[in-house]
Formats: sequence, C-alpha cells, structure tokens
Amino acid sequence: MVSLQKETLRIPLVSELMIPSEKVAHVQISNPLEHALLVLVKSGYSAVPVLDPSYTFQGVISKTRILEETIGIEEFEMNRLSEIMVKEVMDDQVPCLTKEQTMIDALHKLIDHPFVCVTNEKGEFDGIVTRRTILKQFSKHYHETLKYTMLETT
Ligand code: AMP
Repeated sequence: MVSLQKETLRIPLVSELMIPSEKVAHVQISNPLEHALLVLVKSGYSAVPVLDPSYTFQGVISKTRILEETIGIEEFEMNRLSEIMVKEVMDDQVPCLTKEQTMIDALHKLIDHPFVCVTNEKGEFDGIVTRRTILKQFSKHYHETLKYTMLETT
C-alpha cells in the first residue's frame, strides 16, 4: 500500500508529460508570415514552434510578434505578411527541455513561457510541454501528497 503511494509521488519525466511532435502544430522557418498567421488563427494558439526542413527546432513564432511587425506608423501593412519570412521575426532565444529532464525542470522554464519545446541532443524537435499539463500534474501531485501525509499521521 505504502509503495503504491510512493509510486504516485514519483516525479514524472518530461517524456511522460510532453505532447509528441506529431500532435503539435508548427511552421517552417522559410514560410512567409501570412502562412504562420493562418496556422496560428486556425489552430487557436498564440504561438507555435518553428522547425527547419530536417525537423530541427529553430524558435517560436507568435501572433504578437507578427502583429508588431505588420503595424506601420499609421495603419496595418498587410502586404508585409507575404514579404517577411518566419525566420526574420521568430524568437530564437527560447529555453528547451530534453525528454530525460523532470517535471521540476519543466516547471522552472514554464514560469516565463506558456510552453517549452523538447529537443534531442541533435536539436531535433520531439514535442512540447505546456503550462496546462504542468499545472494539472501539480494539482494531482499536491492532492496525492496531502492524502499520503494524512495516511502517515493517522
Ligand atoms: P496550454 O497550456 O494548453 O494553454 O498551452 C499553452 C500554449 O502552448 C498554447 O497557447 C500554444 O501556444 C501551445 N500549444 C499547446 N498545444 C499545442 C499544440 N498541439 N500545437 C502547437 N502549440 C500548442
């Protein structure tokens, strides 16, 4: 019984928490901004990962960055959406995780980012861990710990 509780309290690995790459919406580094905006609007996400043709992670593109880029002095310059490429606008200074890291490593990085990308040693894209997943895990972990602590003290 106690060992079952201890298993429940085990800290999960990133590999157990991530959304795998095949389920993650992404754009290619050489796509024009208009394609990226289409993916973002259709998916409903505020930002998605940017990959190169060999599926190596390159950065993150967000609706906010695209809007900032297309707002001119007095009006929206929509023609810029087809002229500018994702690689010119994306944020390439974002932290990553590896599958072998733990939920605690993910938690630290998710404080400042709504999602963090998971890559392998070659920089290839494996998936993402989202803030929502970590919050759900922490809620579960908190309640299990509480239950376990109460069992131990009774
Ligand atoms: P959540 O914590 O589920 O709200 O997700 C936070 C952010 O992660 C979203 O706003 C998206 O930018 C990104 N995200 C979540 N799921 C996906 C997905 N399947 N494909 C691409 N991006 C995603």
